[in-house]
Amino acid sequence: MSPEPADPARVDPAGSTGLRPASRAIRAGRGSSGTSLATALWASSTWQSADLDDANARATAMRGAEFYSRYGNPTVRAFEEAIADLEGADDALAFASGMGAVASTVFALCSTGDHIVAQRQLYAGTIAFLQGPCRRLGIDVTLVDASEPGAFAAAVIPGRTMMVLAETPSNPRLELADLDELGSIGGPFTVVDSTFATPIGQRPLDHGVDLVLHSATKGIGGHNDATLGVIAGERELIDAVWAYSVLHGATPSPFDALNALRGIRTLAVRTTHQARSAQIIAEHLAAHAAVSTVHYPGLADHPQHELARRQMSMFGTVLAFELTGGREAASRFLQRVRLCRIATSLGGPETLVCHPATSTHVSLTPEEQSATGVTEGLIRLSVGLEDPSDLTDDLTSALSP
Ligand SMILES: *Cc1c(COP(=O)(O)O)cnc(C)c1O
Repeated sequence: MSPEPADPARVDPAGSTGLRPASRAIRAGRGSSGTSLATALWASSTWQSADLDDANARATAMRGAEFYSRYGNPTVRAFEEAIADLEGADDALAFASGMGAVASTVFALCSTGDHIVAQRQLYAGTIAFLQGPCRRLGIDVTLVDASEPGAFAAAVIPGRTMMVLAETPSNPRLELADLDELGSIGGPFTVVDSTFATPIGQRPLDHGVDLVLHSATKGIGGHNDATLGVIAGERELIDAVWAYSVLHGATPSPFDALNALRGIRTLAVRTTHQARSAQIIAEHLAAHAAVSTVHYPGLADHPQHELARRQMSMFGTVLAFELTGGREAASRFLQRVRLCRIATSLGGPETLVCHPATSTHVSLTPEEQSATGVTEGLIRLSVGLEDPSDLTDDLTSALSP
């Protein structure tokens, strides 16, 4: 049995307003809604000017929210303000998806001839982006094992490495990257995909990392009804990415921003419940004969459990486990679950299971799959909001001989 996760206030001691994360999630991002308690939906793609000078001011304003929607939108701005508040950042910038955030950020900051150091175990879309478009455009990529201490810094080529990209906990095997170590790397921009932790579970910027990135499609939105990405960090850096992003065009939908901001209101209570259930399920599966390994940072025997305790205030809502029977057992398990649903994605109210080797990570070569730990018997499970006892019952019956 592992100890209770630490108090979230440890990761966010006081914050700009002195409130704890759950309270800030309620207060944040209200700047564009007047006295309405519900977020106002600004569907407009363009705004009217009074005269030439006013039109000129709108056209040249840095991140103006009332000019043209690709440059900014008040509903999207409200979502960005809330994320900046929760991450302890100067500012944030939203995108049409998590991959929109990855692609726009990389192309905003890296050019032909530059070098990127990235974690080997990453979201499959991010790997495909680094191996495909980046390499095609002459941006070199070195992949490193995040669990090896010092691996990121050792791969940095002074003067050439423009970005260090990590994902913690990582998809799909919940490997952690040491945030203090990443924050201490000088020179390249350090970017952490913190999707699996959510802004409630850890705060990479507090460790000195330059940019935190989320697929808000996942836990932040939290209801499987928004496709959205976001980055947060120092204003100057966010402004630089914004200046490129208006040309890249991965522009977020105001409706998705509204749904994600509604998700933020309940983010703390949802992630707390889901992380508690994930711990129960991880311990339950670890004791099951059909399961050889459970990957969950909250388990005391997870190889990086101590690191998880240092940098996370809760251990997340996703776990993965390996079935001793390989692909056949995985197929049988997916056929037999009743409460858990077969779908990719995570962080929503419904518990989802998937078989990464044939779904989320199917685009990887067999070598890449084995290097990222995607085995034939691996199942990823995103814990939802159901009663955890019903979930363990469902898993037990699906795994029974
Ligand atoms: C889903 C995901 C992404 C991509 O986000 P989309 O919103 O699907 O584009 C990036 N990183 C991680 C860790 C993810 O889980």
